Amino acid sequence: MTQFLKALAAAKRFWEYKRYPSARGVEVEITGACNARCYYCQVGYDNLKQIRHEKKAYLSVDEFQRMIRFLKEHGFLTKGDRLVLNVWNEPCLHPEFSKIIKIGHQEGCLMSLNTNGSIRPRISDDFDAVSIGNVGFSMPGFSQASYDRIHQFDFERIKSNIEWIVKTFREHGCFGFFMLRFHVYRFNVHEIEPARKWAQSLGVCFQPYYAYINDSLRMQQYLRGELSGEYLANVSKDLFMDRHCAYSRREACCVCDFMSNVYIDVDGFVIHCCLDSTRMGCLTDFESPEQLVKAHRNSRICKKCLADLNHCVMRPSPVDGYVLEKQRVTSKYLYQALKTCFL
Ligand code: SF4
Ligand code: SF4
Repeated sequence: MTQFLKALAAAKRFWEYKRYPSARGVEVEITGACNARCYYCQVGYDNLKQIRHEKKAYLSVDEFQRMIRFLKEHGFLTKGDRLVLNVWNEPCLHPEFSKIIKIGHQEGCLMSLNTNGSIRPRISDDFDAVSIGNVGFSMPGFSQASYDRIHQFDFERIKSNIEWIVKTFREHGCFGFFMLRFHVYRFNVHEIEPARKWAQSLGVCFQPYYAYINDSLRMQQYLRGELSGEYLANVSKDLFMDRHCAYSRREACCVCDFMSNVYIDVDGFVIHCCLDSTRMGCLTDFESPEQLVKAHRNSRICKKCLADLNHCVMRPSPVDGYVLEKQRVTSKYLYQALKTCFL
């Protein structure tokens, strides 16, 4: 019975989200680190090279609550917006994960998160996942050999953790969407199909896309032909940047939809976006979403990014023969939701 009530609560919350037109993403880093060592990502690269940044380990539950209330009071977070619990870092590392979700739920937020699946979040018996609208899993391949090259985690443990997260979140009333974001490299093309079948067996949307240089500084150097020899050699060996750039040119535009989102780091500073973590000011410096959009438009970093087309190149590009499965209420989703009711 409880699961049916949770299904109704989730349906009501999803409906509210659809009814309000904003659908802005408000991304808040609840932790200060990611534990993976992905060479082509700016966070993973720093981890690999042991470059340390002075940051808080995580946002306390009280700080999180104050932040959410400020965002709501000033119109940054409405019923039609999504609260994402990370920008770059690993949200499942938060020691009070359940409490963060509880606060988000009490404040009426529809939440989502992205994880590398390396750790099972700490959850309490009364964990309520009804306000989690989607969970993304990023995977750099579907074998230990691929994991050794990018994330550097134990592949079997990752699979087991992802299976656990999907099952446990559903058992605790999550009727949202799960997505497997499969990063396609030159060395893992043959692993796309096994990963797709595994995702299908879990009722998870499969979203393969070409991996790219997820590092704004090095992407700019790449586009200007200024990358160091070693890095460029690795890019040529591992990535399909040619396909990626060709796709991005077709999609190129002179406005950036990230400007209307809100990105906040673990220390409470507003950063430009999920591509560039340069700070724009303290959250309380901004009184309205319009003021933040204006600050983006005037930002030297945004002007340069728009001129260089960085914002177009650093986006997922589809993989031949596959479609990115969308989060839609299809018969597959309804089947899964029905099964969840009986968990
Ligand atoms: S790509 Fe994702 S998992 Fe890898 S280091 Fe970057 S943020 Fe972490
Ligand atoms: S223009 Fe570039 S830096 Fe500015 S918000 Fe968009 S992607 Fe980020």
